[in-house]
Amino acid sequence: MKIVVLKFGGTSVGSIQRIKNVAKISISYLKKNYKIIVVSSAMKGETNKLVKLTKQLSNNFLPAEYDSILATGEQVASALIAGRLNDQGYLSRSWLGWQVPIFTHGKYSHSRIVNINKKNILKFLKSGGIPVIAGFQGINSDNRVTTIGRGGSDASAIMLAKFFKAEKCIIYTDVDGVYTTDPNVVPKAKKIQKISYEEMLEMASLGAKVMQPHSIQDARLNRIDIEVKSSFKNLPGSIITKRKNVSSKNIIRGVSFTKNDAKITLVGVKDRPGVAATIFEPLFKNSINVDMVVQNISSKKKETDLTFTIKNEDLLKTKKLIRKNKKIKFNNILIDEKVSKVSIVGVGMITTPGVTFRMFNALAKKNINILVISTSEIKISVLIDRKNLKKAVDVLHKEFKLDI
Ligand code: ADP
Ligand code: ASP
Ligand code: MG
Repeated sequence: MKIVVLKFGGTSVGSIQRIKNVAKISISYLKKNYKIIVVSSAMKGETNKLVKLTKQLSNNFLPAEYDSILATGEQVASALIAGRLNDQGYLSRSWLGWQVPIFTHGKYSHSRIVNINKKNILKFLKSGGIPVIAGFQGINSDNRVTTIGRGGSDASAIMLAKFFKAEKCIIYTDVDGVYTTDPNVVPKAKKIQKISYEEMLEMASLGAKVMQPHSIQDARLNRIDIEVKSSFKNLPGSIITKRKNVSSKNIIRGVSFTKNDAKITLVGVKDRPGVAATIFEPLFKNSINVDMVVQNISSKKKETDLTFTIKNEDLLKTKKLIRKNKKIKFNNILIDEKVSKVSIVGVGMITTPGVTFRMFNALAKKNINILVISTSEIKISVLIDRKNLKKAVDVLHKEFKLDI
């Protein structure tokens, strides 16, 4: 059985007209003799609306109920697609995560798919039907609805491709591929024909929303090639694949950025073993992701300044947790809510010296001050003032010849 998984994102299912288009694209694969599994996100904006509803009640909404609410957006979209396919004379039905079932492990809102029961869907495929599966959700061992992280229908698609041994996994979205940077911010961005899992994972983790990071980890682990393309224009997309399939003439593959970071500095923390762990433990327990970390020896001996970054949305909670933490002592807390992180990503930097210098020099020439730096084998990230973000992305895009 030749199976293709087609995933449609929020904008692609964002109106009735677009739902009709999704049905049309799906039918075109049926005509090419594929068995099709459709995966749908919620209609654009719906999941955010659901988040707002919960926030009106509480900032500490019960996690299981929170997920149960957030998963409802996908129910509407998947049933609309199945409805349209039926209306056009095709056998189709929607499936929610618990109906498949799609089994997940881990915390609510950040669960991961670990198993998928194939039986009923296979039977339906064999009878010529088109299953439309609600992305972003599953059930856990307590039989409760779970969600798998914002943007998670990408991961639903990859895991369905894995379990059904699909020949293709296509992510339909509102841009026609993965670009050197967000094409909606930098019009000079160029479409990347092929990108390695490693580079895509870094770009996605560092802010390129086009693919959810976990989905790329899952694809890499299971060696699933992904095609990212537009649901609006019939153009070739980008392929995310193994490193050896990708030629690398560019040192840098792309520039990613985040907009909503916050920087916290604890001034005058007592410098003794385990202090950083004591500070970060409650944050970790509350699912707050600490990103960049720097520790400076302060002028007074036995004290240190600890700086770290988090997402802006976690700032209130983080401040509360730090103030509540009686195990740590510090003289002052400084907060900068208007910082952004800009990163360059590319496997080429492993073998090319001088990339760091070129990055810092290009930023310096534009008078952009670097607040914090972090690096890995294939990425360099800097934290800067948010007001300099666009300028920084533009200059780095140009410096590494991504405009050409
Ligand atoms: P979907 O709803 O289809 O899942 P998303 O909004 O999650 O779509 O992702 C698509 C968006 O990702 C694009 O509209 C684009 O603005 C953004 N984006 C950020 N970085 C990149 C990049 N490097 N290449 C392509 N798109 C990007
Ligand atoms: N609807 C979910 C979200 O907005 C999942 C997704 O779009 O992939 O995060
Ligand atoms: Mg998405």
